[in-house]
Order: sequence, then structure tokens, then C-alpha cells
Amino acid sequence: MPAHGPEEEDKPCRACSDFKTWAKAQNKTTLNPPNKMAPAKATDCPLDKDELGRSTWGFLHSMASYYPDKPTRREAEDMSKFFNIFSKFYPCEPCALDFQEDIKKNPPRTDSKDHLAKWLCERHNTVNLKLGKPLFDCSKIHERWRDGWKDGSCD
Ligand SMILES: Cc1cc2nc3c(=O)[nH]c(=O)nc-3n(C[C@H](O)[C@H](O)[C@H](O)COP(=O)(O)OP(=O)(O)OC[C@H]3O[C@@H](n4cnc5c(N)ncnc54)[C@H](O)[C@@H]3O)c2cc1C
Repeated sequence: MPAHGPEEEDKPCRACSDFKTWAKAQNKTTLNPPNKMAPAKATDCPLDKDELGRSTWGFLHSMASYYPDKPTRREAEDMSKFFNIFSKFYPCEPCALDFQEDIKKNPPRTDSKDHLAKWLCERHNTVNLKLGKPLFDCSKIHERWRDGWKDGSCD
């Protein structure tokens, strides 16, 4: 991760924790201040870890599902570089460090759309496993992120 200034090191990292944990770390005793005049939490706030994760996976899986079936050598190289650089700058540092380790062991498979989408699905399942979440059926990856479910529920 890029170096931070000293003032940033003291701040709890919002993108590394869920909102409740972050609010506690800020020494807030309640999520809604008792002062009734205080404004309600706005909807356009910085992302916490889970919001950031959901948005990022949405972008990454969509990108993989729209990747060429037969990429040029240059496209394949660029996509590998993209994931390596992405893993260094992802703003949740503990997430980024684990992801860097994971893609070192399992480098991006960028030689076709299907391989890239499956590879990314497996990386996401590695995180799901770590967090105790259900694993996603990777045979349904394009239904989820490009074509919509076969039962027509997204049409
Ligand atoms: C690179 C990366 C690393 C992360 N590392 C951590 C971490 O170390 N610790 C941590 O607490 N959080 C981490 N997160 C965040 C975490 O993965 C979730 O995004 C967050 O917990 C919110 O989860 P969610 O249940 O809303 O669904 P998400 O896991 O965000 O998934 C969003 C949607 O993707 C679909 N989906 C689920 N699994 C798959 C899959 N395998 N393939 C395709 N689609 C799928 C489902 O429809 C799901 O609703 C990371 C996120 C990213 C992008």
C-alpha cells in the first residue's frame, strides 16, 4: 500500500472495517447521537469495508464477464498487470495483503473470458471461505454478472 502521512496513521481506517466497528473506534458510544437536532446519517458517505467490497466485486466480475473470448496478447498482459496493480492499491489494507498472497499463488488466467471469470470467481470464493460465507457456484458466473438468470427474473 502507498505510504500514509502521520495524521492518517492515527485515524481508524473506514474502508478496513464495517461501519459499526469504525464508529466505535471513533469513540462514538451510539450510532445515532442522542442529540435529536443532529443530522441523520447521510447516504453519500465514504464506503466502509463491506460497501467497498460489494461495489468492487461488482466491477471486477462485470469486467471479467465482458472481457474478450479471444484477447490479444497485449490485452491478456494488460489484464494481468491490472490485477497485480489493483491488489497493491485496494484501500482495505488487510484485504489487499491477503489478495496479493492469493494471486501470487494463483496468478490471473487472462487467456479467455471464461478462464478469467472462473479465476475471479474462485478468488472471491477464497474470501467467502475466509469470512464463513456460502461459496458461489462458478458455473453461473455469466448469468449473475452479464446475462441474467436463466429463469428470466432479471429480464
Ligand atoms: C479483493 C477483495 C478482498 C477482500 N478481502 C476481504 C477481507 O480480507 N476481509 C473482509 O472482511 N472483507 C473482504 N472483502 C469484502 C468482502 O469480500 C465482501 O465484499 C463484504 O463482506 C460484503 O459481502 P456481501 O455478503 O455483501 O457480498 P460480496 O461478497 O461483496 O458479494 C457481492 C455479490 O457477489 C456475488 N458473489 C458472491 N460470491 C461470488 C463469487 N465467488 N463469484 C462471483 N460472484 C459472487 C453474490 O451475488 C453477492 O451478493 C474483500 C473484497 C475484495 C474486493
